[in-house]
Order: sequence, then C-alpha cells, then structure tokens
Amino acid sequence: MFGVYVHVPFCLRRCDYCAFATWDDRGHLIDDYVAGLLRELATLDLAPASSVFFGGGTPSLLAPAQLGSVIDAITRLPGAEVTVECNPDTVDAGKLAGYRDAGATRVSLGVQSMVPHVLAALGRTHLPANVERAVDGIGAAGFASWNLDLIYGSVGESLADWRHTLEAALRLSPPHVSAYGLTVEAGTPLAADPSRHPDDDDEADKYVLADELLGAGGLDSYEVSNWARPGHECAHNQLYWSQGDYRGIGCAAHSHQSGRRWWNVRTPERYLAMLAAGESVEAAGEDLDRPTQALEGLQLALRTRRGVPAAALDTEGIDELIEARGDRLVLTRQGRLLANEVALRLRPDG
Ligand code: SF4
Repeated sequence: MFGVYVHVPFCLRRCDYCAFATWDDRGHLIDDYVAGLLRELATLDLAPASSVFFGGGTPSLLAPAQLGSVIDAITRLPGAEVTVECNPDTVDAGKLAGYRDAGATRVSLGVQSMVPHVLAALGRTHLPANVERAVDGIGAAGFASWNLDLIYGSVGESLADWRHTLEAALRLSPPHVSAYGLTVEAGTPLAADPSRHPDDDDEADKYVLADELLGAGGLDSYEVSNWARPGHECAHNQLYWSQGDYRGIGCAAHSHQSGRRWWNVRTPERYLAMLAAGESVEAAGEDLDRPTQALEGLQLALRTRRGVPAAALDTEGIDELIEARGDRLVLTRQGRLLANEVALRLRPDG
C-alpha cells in the first residue's frame, strides 16, 4: 500500500481556528502552483498509489481540469481511492461532476456544523443550505463514498446545537463522518481569545453524543474521530494509521518512507521558486529509530478499532477503558475519551 498526499494551500478566507499551511490572499498563484505540482511529480519515480488525497487548504478551488491533470500524473493501482477535500462554498454540481470525470472517487466535505451561529463562531463562511446543495451534487455526480467533516466544542455551541448538527448530518445519509473536538492551535485568532477556548468536559459530552447518534445511524467507530458504514472506511487515513509509506506533494506536504519522515518547504512562493531553480523542495526530515517506530505504531493502532496486542498495554486499574477482542485490546467509548492517557501505558517491548 502506498499513498500520495497533494497539498493545496489556498482558501477563500481563513477560519479562526485553523493553523494549516494555507493562505487566503494567494489565489493568483493557483495556475503556477498546479504546474509546480506536475513539475514535482515529474521528478519522482513513485510506486503505484493505492490512495491519493487532495487536502489543504481548499482543494475545491481547483478547476476539474487542474485536478485531473494532477490525478493523471500519479500512477494508481486499479480501484485506488482518490479523495478531494471540498468546501461547501466552492463546489457546485457541475464542479463535482467534473471532479468525478477527472478521476476522483471520494469527496470529503468540510461541514463543521449545521447551526448558523456555530458556523459564524468558527469563522466559517458557508450556511447549512450550502451543505445540502453540495451533498445533492455529490450524489448526482455518482460518488458512492464521501465524508462529512464536523467540529464540536466551539464557544456558544450548546449540546442541543451539536445534536442538531449530528441529526442534520445523518439525514444526509453520509457513508462516513469525521468529528473532531475543536483544538486551540498557537498563532490562530482563536488562541488569542481565551474566552472562546473549548471546555474539556463539554467536548467529552459531545463526543459521547456523537458516538451514540452516529452508531445508531449505522456508522461504526473505526478510529477515535472517524465513523463509517462497513466498506466506506478511508483507505488513505488507514494507511497513515498503519505507518504505511506515503509521499506528500506540494508545499508543506509531509512524507514517510520506511521509518524516515520529511516535509517540503512551507510557503507556495518558496516551493515554486525552488522548483524553478531545479532544487529539492524538501525542507527537513528525521529518521525514526526502531523503538520510536514501535511506540508510534502502537499509539496509532490504539486509536483504531484494531487495537494493540494485549502484551503491549499495562491494563492495571483501567478496566473501563479497554476491552479484549481476541488477543488484542481495544479502547471502549470511555477509553476513546482518554486515548492519550491510555497511550502513556503502552509498552512497545511488552
Ligand atoms: S477552509 Fe479549512 S483549511 Fe481553509 S482556513 Fe478554514 S479550516 Fe483552514
């Protein structure tokens, strides 16, 4: 299994909580940037990809022909998953159909909330009606697999608001839902305003509600923040969680191969300048020693429903947080709430 991640560092407007490598004043670079992606790909001899993921940023700022040119430049295995992250504000039925024709197989829609005042608090520009329109377009384009991305925990979001978001999302019959607790990232407007920081207990209540409602809606938890109908799990994310090899294309994109991690230069300008000069776009990297690889592998596996080998976890006093499945230990719902604490008990050489 081998994955390709393509970073698209452009957004129409920056959301208050976002620390990703993305810019809202560089749209004029999109054409050059797509040419840069093709140039970077042309310098590489990659294994055929089992999955491709266009993330960002807002990949749906690319025209279908631009997306298609990058997909075509990536050798893929038959049946490879090709996901495009889309913003409800920047897709319509025509663009989604164009993406499908261009080779995309899966759409991940950045919904975050279905409550207008919560969207406003997050600094998002779309309205719930845009989400419904986008989902209609996803269906009309023939995408069988797609995801709704949700965020809970913003200030002013009541438990009833979050229930409304979950129920409205479920009415759209998504095959996959990702739900993340809002986190405070350094350097963001959210970080600068402590009065808007999320509350741990509130987020825990919202996680439990999400797991109850999504589970009742036929979506199984397969990773702490991800739920899917059987057969609709995201192959690309599963590759990350199993320490697979992947190559990141574009500025700020991260790669991993056989225990080595590296990442590209952060800004699109620098990325394009280095490509034009015929230089490597790699900014830095690190080699992971065997113990680090083993520990990271267990930390990732613990967050999934695959769990970890029984011998790899000190279970004393945490009966409510884990359950045995065969010879492996898997987090319970309570355990998923405390996944980071449980991970401190992992024993890579256990
Ligand atoms: S649309 Fe997504 S990537 Fe762009 S600023 Fe908002 S959260 Fe960040």
